[in-house]
Amino acid sequence: MDIDPTVYKTLLESTKAIPWKIDWKTLKFAYIGPQIEQLLGWSPESWVSAQDWAERMHPEDRDETFNYCVSQSQAGVDHEADYRALTKDGGYVWIRDVVHVVRKDGEVEALVGFMFDISERKKTEEELITLQKELEELSFKDGLTGIANRRLFDSIIDIEWTNARRNQQPLSVVMLDIDYFKQYNDHYGHLKGDDTLKQVAQTLAAAATRARDFVGRYGGEEFILVLPETNEASALKLAERCRTMVSQLQIPHAGSPQQPILTCSLGVATTVPAPDADIAAFIDSVDKLLYQAKQNGRDRVESAPRSPAAPTPPGPRTR
Ligand code: GH3
Ligand code: MG
Ligand code: MG
Repeated sequence: MDIDPTVYKTLLESTKAIPWKIDWKTLKFAYIGPQIEQLLGWSPESWVSAQDWAERMHPEDRDETFNYCVSQSQAGVDHEADYRALTKDGGYVWIRDVVHVVRKDGEVEALVGFMFDISERKKTEEELITLQKELEELSFKDGLTGIANRRLFDSIIDIEWTNARRNQQPLSVVMLDIDYFKQYNDHYGHLKGDDTLKQVAQTLAAAATRARDFVGRYGGEEFILVLPETNEASALKLAERCRTMVSQLQIPHAGSPQQPILTCSLGVATTVPAPDADIAAFIDSVDKLLYQAKQNGRDRVESAPRSPAAPTPPGPRTR
């Protein structure tokens, strides 16, 4: 079938994809579709050599794209590349270049291809990546208070436990529970209760100052702190600081049977994990101490009684 070459030309120049041809020997453009000007602003005549193509590429994409396309072309392999092309007004457009290698008598004679505008697709991809990151962040963040959630605690305690066991360093955990919070909600309403939880969370986050200290919401009105390389004395000091800082907020609690302000109770324990020690048992011991603090009158810190058989080794910094 014989088709008038002008038909081809009309077809090529009416598609959204931008056709082009480069002569392999001279690396000069033999042709580039006029649509290029509409997309990038550069006139077709300004595309003289492969050099112009490389120069009108984002610096971060240039070397990799250029080297890849040259090596594929030398090997006579059809290929495609995504890169950001420079527009005449200084912006960038994501392009997918699909390249076909034309051979004559076994030798590479020319490269022909199409450039596609893929900026919309890239934008969607980038949005998806951002969304993914946000989701990852959200899944470790407590929705109400914005601090770490129980799920992140579960991961962190595993890591810190393994670390402490390997390095034979003390690991401390503090559990904190707000006193008479049910009455607080009953008296001030659930919304006000939510606000107060946020305030307590922020206070605890500010109380723990070392980079590796972890503060998270353990559940309802309970919070948990993981303090790596922190001995018993330092952990007790921090727990006391938390208790003091919460009561110094002077949040009125008219519904409390005990005090007119909001207080909290804490349990704190320290361990240098033995090879066969169990995390769950340790956390449970902290929980029991918290329960004791409640039993012993609330607004207090209970810590494990020192066992003379298992003294805390020296070493870690004190606060
Ligand atoms: P105790 O001093 O023994 O800890 O008494 P308590 O009232 O604090 O303990 P209890 O476990 O009986 O009640 C906890 C309350 O915390 C009940 C629940 O409604 C409230 N709570 C848990 N999560 C939230 C929350 O996200 N927002 C609000 N506003 N309240 C919450
Ligand atoms: Mg509770
Ligand atoms: Mg409580």
